[in-house]
Amino acid sequence: MSASRHAYVTLVTNADYATGARALVNSLKLTATAADIVVMHTGGVEAAALAPLEALGARLVAAELLPTSDAFNRRHARERLHAAAPFTKGGKPAFHTPLDNFAKLRLWQLAAYERVVFIDADAIVLRNIDRLFGYPEFCAAPNVYESLADFHRMNSGVFVARPAQRTFAAMLERLDAPDAFWRRTDQTFLQSFFPDWHGLPVFYNMLQYVWFNLPALWDWRSVSVVHYQYEKPWQAGHDKADRLAPLIALWRAYHDGTAIPDIDALANPAAA
Ligand code: UDP
Ligand code: MN
Repeated sequence: MSASRHAYVTLVTNADYATGARALVNSLKLTATAADIVVMHTGGVEAAALAPLEALGARLVAAELLPTSDAFNRRHARERLHAAAPFTKGGKPAFHTPLDNFAKLRLWQLAAYERVVFIDADAIVLRNIDRLFGYPEFCAAPNVYESLADFHRMNSGVFVARPAQRTFAAMLERLDAPDAFWRRTDQTFLQSFFPDWHGLPVFYNMLQYVWFNLPALWDWRSVSVVHYQYEKPWQAGHDKADRLAPLIALWRAYHDGTAIPDIDALANPAAA
């Protein structure tokens, strides 16, 4: 068992998200964090995709999909969910399975940790954010990428949690209630389970669409986490790739582990 009481935790259920996690793990290591870096993975990820993460020092933790009912699984199957709650603002890659998102809740079973900071596998951390381990459950940032109205909504790509088996059991019960439909999967569920969620500054989960929709909000001196929601930076030539080129180049540098751009220079290009 780990000696650390704190862990960054991510989830990967297929090789594509393992690719994402590689950039995330590299980025976390560069922040010189003292916390463990945990990759929860399902049986859907082949050993060859996990090996590089372990080689980087991540702790691999096997985590199966949740034991939800067949009816629940049918309601949240990709085709049915996309039909019932269409994504009109961006595209989801073919390798994204909505049902897999709920496996995030397994982090509440990692009870040896006093606090965990969950981070989606499609994100990178630009500076040390260990202070979040001193924050209470449940903290998350707003789901802002289009307009001010979005500050009411929570994004589940980054959050602070206190693992506890009791909480996990209570969640499973609430999650799979008769006819329950969580239109944005774990995100809708967590916002409902923690209605009094504490708000983190938006910079702890800066969504990539802010880059072109709300550029005034993008301040490199403050951005701690970049989160590539919707299209992924490792998807070859997706339809927003041109508009997101600088952010994709940044992700690529973290993934490849080469020549990370100086964030302070990005913040102040004239002085670079
Ligand atoms: N995830 C996964 N496999 C899937 C779907 C999701 O491993 O098929 C995990 C992964 O950590 C991912 C997170 O759940 O980053 C949430 O999905 P995603 O980031 O694609 O959603 P978005 O941020 O675009 O809403
Ligand atoms: Mn994400």
